[in-house]
Amino acid sequence: MWKCRACGLEIAFRAETLKIDEVGPFFICMGCGHRNALVNVGGERIALARPVELR
Ligand SMILES: [Zn+2]
Repeated sequence: MWKCRACGLEIAFRAETLKIDEVGPFFICMGCGHRNALVNVGGERIALARPVELR
């Protein structure tokens, strides 16, 4: 689960939720639209278990 840092909504991990731009990986909260960067959230580095397919 990922947690939105703006509204606290918890979002189940789905590969299609993840987006990557020049800054790095992030996801857009479905509740409030906040852009949450996936870097060291809560002091824990998020590692992807497998490569993300870009379609
Ligand atoms: Zn949110």
